[in-house]
Amino acid sequence: MIGAICRLALATIVLAALGAAAQPLTVTAEGFDARIGAQPGPVIVDGRLQWLYELHLSNFVGRTLTVREVRVYVDQKRQPAWTLRGDELQRRLVTIGADETVALAGIAPGRRAVIYLDFLSGDAAALSRTLRHEVDYLDGDETRTLSLPPVPVAVPATLRLGPPLRGGPWVAVHSPDWPRGHRRVVIATGGRARIPGRFAIDWVKTDAQGKTSRGDADRVADTLGYGDEVLAVDEAVVALVRDDMPEPELVSARRKHALTDAAGNFVSLRLSDGRYAVYEHLKPGSIRVRAGDHVRRGQVIAALGFTGDSTGPHLHFHVADAAEPAAGEGLPFALSGWRELGRYGDIGALGRTPWPAQRATRLRRNEWPGWNVVVEFDE
Ligand SMILES: [Zn+2]
Repeated sequence: MIGAICRLALATIVLAALGAAAQPLTVTAEGFDARIGAQPGPVIVDGRLQWLYELHLSNFVGRTLTVREVRVYVDQKRQPAWTLRGDELQRRLVTIGADETVALAGIAPGRRAVIYLDFLSGDAAALSRTLRHEVDYLDGDETRTLSLPPVPVAVPATLRLGPPLRGGPWVAVHSPDWPRGHRRVVIATGGRARIPGRFAIDWVKTDAQGKTSRGDADRVADTLGYGDEVLAVDEAVVALVRDDMPEPELVSARRKHALTDAAGNFVSLRLSDGRYAVYEHLKPGSIRVRAGDHVRRGQVIAALGFTGDSTGPHLHFHVADAAEPAAGEGLPFALSGWRELGRYGDIGALGRTPWPAQRATRLRRNEWPGWNVVVEFDE
């Protein structure tokens, strides 16, 4: 008995020395390995904090576990900032390797699911410090609650980037809900699964009628925005360039590429804060910079094109922690300014009808362009 106490005391001392004895060790019947994919950091949209990050759940028990509800708490608040259940949970829970959302959010033994968390909280001035998560799930007939420790929120980036293009109108084509949109494309490279396009935007040019072509919609050269100058968003050093991919003349002649070629011709700029600005699908022969070059804000670096995996000429732009288009973890960013003309509620209308106009154009400063907004750059 004395021996046991001594061993326990010794273990406590050893744990304390390792800095790990603050909490008593408790073993519960929980069966998920749960983790947040990348450190959450918000972007600002319409003066509010927009969160986009993921909760990964791996089932480590020999039974299917069924997620019923996810609650997200901001800082010390007792009321959840966001509760995810039912159809909404269903749409946001994707089992890796499965084609469709698994019925009733059930996660089979050994499978890993990603829950895409996208919600607004508070106003931009009240920046949160931590986020905390609770997951209710069914294990057989029993409902269990997994309570995860708070995760610190990433410090917001201070660089306000200039426009990647001139004039407009440009449609910021993106949505967190598209099953195969950037935000949901998890790529495992170099031994880690990441989402390079978490905050990516596809910039598509339009006109007052909402058209995207000036003639034959199938001709790449007739597409609005094709060949437009692409600009450095800040003072930077060119990190990586690729300019050897050909381009079809017809949109219908596009084909699927291997992951290594999906970005087409691209330029990656290393920004002064260490992040990378990545421009994809650039026009062959248009890239005016080489790796190692210093560029200034607003400098023309290339032209908008149609190389790589793309459904029509546009500029793909994202910020990440790696220069390689498919290797980085997508990071939040803000653009210094634009005029917001409206927003496509249904992006399927782009190319056919004008966007639902706002009563007055609004000047947006130091924000991230929201889903499918129509903007004009004035810098
Ligand atoms: Zn894209």
